[in-house]
Amino acid sequence: MASEGGGFNGYGAVPGIAVGRIYPSREALSKAKVHRPLMAGICGTKARGGAESIVVSGGYPDDQDYGEVIIYTGHGGRDPATGRQVKDQDLTDSGNAALVASRISGRPVRVIRGANGVFEHSPAEGYRYDGLFVVDDHWSSIGLDRFLIWQFRLRQLGQESESDEVLRGATDIPMPAGNPAPNRNERIARTLARSREVAERVKRVHNYACQICGIVLEIPGGLRYAETAHIRGLGHPHNGPDQPDNALCLCPSHHALFDLGGITIDESLQVINETSGSSIGHLRLHRRHHVNREYLRYHRELYRQRISGADALLTDSESRSRR
Ligand SMILES: [Zn+2]
Repeated sequence: MASEGGGFNGYGAVPGIAVGRIYPSREALSKAKVHRPLMAGICGTKARGGAESIVVSGGYPDDQDYGEVIIYTGHGGRDPATGRQVKDQDLTDSGNAALVASRISGRPVRVIRGANGVFEHSPAEGYRYDGLFVVDDHWSSIGLDRFLIWQFRLRQLGQESESDEVLRGATDIPMPAGNPAPNRNERIARTLARSREVAERVKRVHNYACQICGIVLEIPGGLRYAETAHIRGLGHPHNGPDQPDNALCLCPSHHALFDLGGITIDESLQVINETSGSSIGHLRLHRRHHVNREYLRYHRELYRQRISGADALLTDSESRSRR
């Protein structure tokens, strides 16, 4: 133990601070080290390994708060006077990059809700510390003000079950606390079984070879290892289907890159390295595994950095499942 008493490094629960505690002001939040900056909604940097805390205060019209799950809009591009989005957000903005780093590191983020958020999940006044969440997804989208925004899905720690983890929202929006749907366990078990069947089928068709690099991971005992990536995510707000044409057989490295937007697949099925913009080869296909191009397009658009006016109009007419 090299650190001095307590050793609080800024991440996780602040010693002595209980979930549910209410603070009258941002100054009080800052003094208690629950959320240090007085103005910024995101505290933390990518260099430190992610965000320490965020404030959900209702200022961003694109935010969605379901209690255990929050869709949080990133930082930047807003007119401070009106609060409206006036230009595209940038993923390299330090707060946004910090939230991506949180997704990668898995470090929990303290969530503080302000009084102006969604009524049923927000305090009547002041700011309430609502505990620890993890960032489990991020994507770009066109916001209500027609500019590109980055969004982050945060899930309350301790709320995810093994099956939720596997299905990533095949159960869709979480049930309100204390009101589980009837037969929920049965439904989860059935969905889980079907999901594994789809995944196995896709891997077997490709003989466990990665559809991007072709590698086959062999294990003693004559076994092979591969992963199945959903192209359009199953969880909210993507709500993709759990079926073979929405799945790819990938090695773990390409699965991670695909899920984090490091690679996308274009209309001609070229695999694009999104950091360099260049193709790293053609997606490997099998005649018994149809890959749906619409889902590939959906995935591509999740990680685009810029939009044009025409794109904005196009996307307006399709279901981005805004509610
Ligand atoms: Zn691979």
